[in-house]
Amino acid sequence: MKAVKFGGTSMSTADSILRVKSIVEQDIDRRFVIVSAPGKSAVDDKVTDMLIAVAHTSSRDRIQAFAVVKERFQTICEGVGLGRDYLCDELSAIESGLAASNSDYIISRGEYLCAKVLAGLLGYRFIDAAELIKFNGKTYDDDTTETVCKAGLKGKRNAVIPGFYGSDENGEIVVFSRGGSDITGAIVARAVQANVYENYTDVDGFMTCDPRIVPHASVIDMLTYKELRELAYMGANVLHPESIFPVRASNIPIHILNTFNKNALGTKIVPTEEFLAGKHKRKNDMPITAIAGKQHFFSLHIDKSLMNAEIGFVRRVLSCFEKLDISIEHIPSGIDSMTVVFSAVDTKTANELIDSVRREVKPDHISLATDISLIAIVGHGMKSRPGTAARAINRLSLANINLRMLDMGASEINLILGVDDADFDRALIALNGEFEV
Ligand code: ASP
Repeated sequence: MKAVKFGGTSMSTADSILRVKSIVEQDIDRRFVIVSAPGKSAVDDKVTDMLIAVAHTSSRDRIQAFAVVKERFQTICEGVGLGRDYLCDELSAIESGLAASNSDYIISRGEYLCAKVLAGLLGYRFIDAAELIKFNGKTYDDDTTETVCKAGLKGKRNAVIPGFYGSDENGEIVVFSRGGSDITGAIVARAVQANVYENYTDVDGFMTCDPRIVPHASVIDMLTYKELRELAYMGANVLHPESIFPVRASNIPIHILNTFNKNALGTKIVPTEEFLAGKHKRKNDMPITAIAGKQHFFSLHIDKSLMNAEIGFVRRVLSCFEKLDISIEHIPSGIDSMTVVFSAVDTKTANELIDSVRREVKPDHISLATDISLIAIVGHGMKSRPGTAARAINRLSLANINLRMLDMGASEINLILGVDDADFDRALIALNGEFEV
């Protein structure tokens, strides 16, 4: 049995929804379908963005602001052959509650209405995500959801479920962060113990490198959950980063597929342990699976003689970050020095941070660099092959690129290199040339 999620582009127009219908009908195992709200089309914005605008409108003007969303769904219903008035009752109910509704409720209606349309079109049952996905206040409650969702879907088959939202202990609607329908799909896949979680999107899969910078980058046929985490962290945004947790716990593979390209084989994301045990084979047995990078990090460099002998030094430095609510990315360190890499902050916060570290640990020298890019070289193949770091460093030096930082975790699945923002593109191209991913 499969849980299948379709993203916003797949649900954006009547034509694309008819395409979704035919994909679902091609395989009787596609029994649980999760949908996003209609995404951007040639003429319209994303429905979720339209709804956010409605939620920001004053209560008395909301019905008027909602008219564009209503029109979008009426056009879709007409285009797919359900008739313009198919959602008449649902649209009226939403309109009559708009003035008094909380904003998460309004923002979630895109997924709600979209699931109603697809359920009608497929002849599948509609199951409201509010009954399956549970929040504690605004925080997603995985334990309760696991129990409730399992019970709610038990014995059911052929259902369409809206993505992106659930409800709290008072029955109020709460939404995940943007792109959160991917999480709903993973939760449903776990609850029904699907053999696979298929995630249909508008790209052919995860790429070996950013194709805007490295034009000959190709689609990765297989990734492990661990490799996916590293790439998602570096900004590869094909899938919501939190969506792997529910399926990972049940060893359910994820298959990224393209609604608009049926010839693309997509990217399979498989359990790390199974991959390492040889259960899944990649097309290419390359040491490096992908190279990804992100720009605009800051790095704070601190020098102090005999730092290593000073008990609590690192803790006190990190407490300064914690007090200012700055989350830390990497901490490469030497004997008498440490560097803390973090996402860019405003000048005032950066100055407060420097003052606070000065007070806390009295460094001999402290400096802040504000133009750091991080590049991750990711792949399980690195572990068994010596020389990856040497090759990477050598290649950067041949390209005359100054290496600002180097960090390699003990798991040897990723090597992180820091370069100047100005060298970012050249570094990606050089590293790609070296490893030919
Ligand atoms: N519709 C929501 C968004 O645009 C959630 C999703 O598509 O996953 O972020």
